[in-house]
Amino acid sequence: MSEGIPGFSTLAIHAGAQPDPSTGARVTPIYQTASFVFDDVDHAASLFGLQAFGNIYTRITNPTTAVLEERVAALEGGTAALATASGHAAQLLAFHALMQPGDTIVAANKLYGGSINQLNHSFKSFGWNVRWVDPADMGAIEAAIDGTVKAIFIESLANPGGVVTDIASISAIARKHRVPLVVDNTLATPYLCRPIEHGADIVLHSLTKFMGGHGNSMGGILVDGGSFDWSADDRYPMLSKPRPEYDGLVLHETFGNFAFAIACRVLGLRDLGPAISPFNAFMILTGIETLPLRMQRHCDNAKAVAAFLKGHDKVGWVSYAGLEGDAYHGLQQTYMPKGGGAVFTFGLKGGYDAGVALVSNVQLFSHLANIGDTRSLIIHPASTTHRQLTDAQKTAAGAGPDVVRVSIGLEDAADIIADLAQALDPL
Ligand SMILES: *Cc1c(COP(=O)(O)O)cnc(C)c1O
Repeated sequence: MSEGIPGFSTLAIHAGAQPDPSTGARVTPIYQTASFVFDDVDHAASLFGLQAFGNIYTRITNPTTAVLEERVAALEGGTAALATASGHAAQLLAFHALMQPGDTIVAANKLYGGSINQLNHSFKSFGWNVRWVDPADMGAIEAAIDGTVKAIFIESLANPGGVVTDIASISAIARKHRVPLVVDNTLATPYLCRPIEHGADIVLHSLTKFMGGHGNSMGGILVDGGSFDWSADDRYPMLSKPRPEYDGLVLHETFGNFAFAIACRVLGLRDLGPAISPFNAFMILTGIETLPLRMQRHCDNAKAVAAFLKGHDKVGWVSYAGLEGDAYHGLQQTYMPKGGGAVFTFGLKGGYDAGVALVSNVQLFSHLANIGDTRSLIIHPASTTHRQLTDAQKTAAGAGPDVVRVSIGLEDAADIIADLAQALDPL
């Protein structure tokens, strides 16, 4: 290893891991156990009182999961991380530590569809409000902030349209109003973009997608950027006020720049319960070891496929930030110069019927509702995920009748293009 901080590829393989202390196993074992034996009564008491770090029960910590957490924290440049059962569980736990009933999230209107549902419906039943804004409109973001706003929530690379967000400009607004900036970095991954370096305070992931990378395991994670002062006023009581269940401990005072990750674990994960299984943590850790290699190939393949589609006479438009001339190409060059990711949309001149025909004609592509697999994936949102909406609503959501979304896999680019060519020809 060279001196100083190891490079990204080295961290992807080594961060957080050591040979197993009891067996010498080189690969992090799957600690498939629900609970852990205490040394003695005093040890048990200190673990329960948060006076010592150690394992009690896999709902709260697990040694396999701990390696995953340390690794993703290192890759994102954060102080600590907390892995969860899914990406949505990470969102739930992050906002649970920030929000009280009556508080508001200012959220980008270009978010993953599941996140829009979570904020619009389930979170509202907790008394958490949402104010939707165009993430490209800095004036609208600033105008949406009032005393009830406890978080700004954006995606670095927004699903599904391949929209790159100006994280630094939004961070400047967040800092001015002393509100934490929460960034979902699922589509970019830290290989393409490290939001904390651009001013994000908290980074979230669905590990189910490119991080695990093989479409075989659900997981999520939240990363504490360590940058936010939770005690500057009394607006974040979970972090700044004494906790009755821990003998009056004040989390920010005790845990400093990783207090947010601790709060999400010892209050959110402990009480709400969406823990990741050690087996899934192991699968995702294995996936992350090849993240830099996979992500670069994903991007290179996606760029080749986007260029092919752009030149095809059945295709009306292609929205891929990695293509020169794209509306988001400038922001892509600033925030993710290694590539524009692998998820993008394009429009068929033949509209709805052409979209249905295309997903029926493909052979190599899988027709399903996921992204970030080694396999190339395709979906026609208007006939599937967005079918209940009116045409006007579909278009507003970026899922008009002509729109097709792809997640480009790791197959040979020539084979991916050939499959699309044979599927487009009969339209
Ligand atoms: C899939 C996804 C989520 C939700 O993650 P799950 O692991 O499916 O719960 C959140 N944000 C983005 C951008 C996603 O793609």
